[in-house]
Amino acid sequence: MADCIFCKIIAGEIPSKKVYEDDVCYAFYDAAPQAPVHFLVVPKEHISGPSAVSEQNCAVVGHIYAVIAKLAGELGLKNGYRVVANDGADGGQTVGHLHFHVLAGRSLAWPPG
Ligand code: 5GP
Ligand code: ZN
Repeated sequence: MADCIFCKIIAGEIPSKKVYEDDVCYAFYDAAPQAPVHFLVVPKEHISGPSAVSEQNCAVVGHIYAVIAKLAGELGLKNGYRVVANDGADGGQTVGHLHFHVLAGRSLAWPPG
């Protein structure tokens, strides 16, 4: 989608530090890390956020969780990690392309602020 920064990252028009890529999703390190390990996993298809997930496009979400589990193993995240998907203003979403934050490497507070 034009003017979507994550679509541009997926297309290679904006540089990123790639963690993983397949036909369905792309994973890259967050530009403003909030934990020692902080990467994002996004569907290659433009979906505007969690609230735009439907019965028609939800297979990508399960796929992304399987990819995250595989990457967590490969990256040695033995103490655990957090997966976060923000939606809308109250959810703290700043980029309108569905993305899953993966945070690890320190003990994370709960509940979030
Ligand atoms: P949100 O606030 O929408 O849940 O998360 C958006 C995330 O995207 C933020 O953590 C922000 O640091 C990250 N981000 C925004 N623009 C870029 C970019 O151009 N490159 C990378 N690698 N991360 C970005
Ligand atoms: Zn997009």
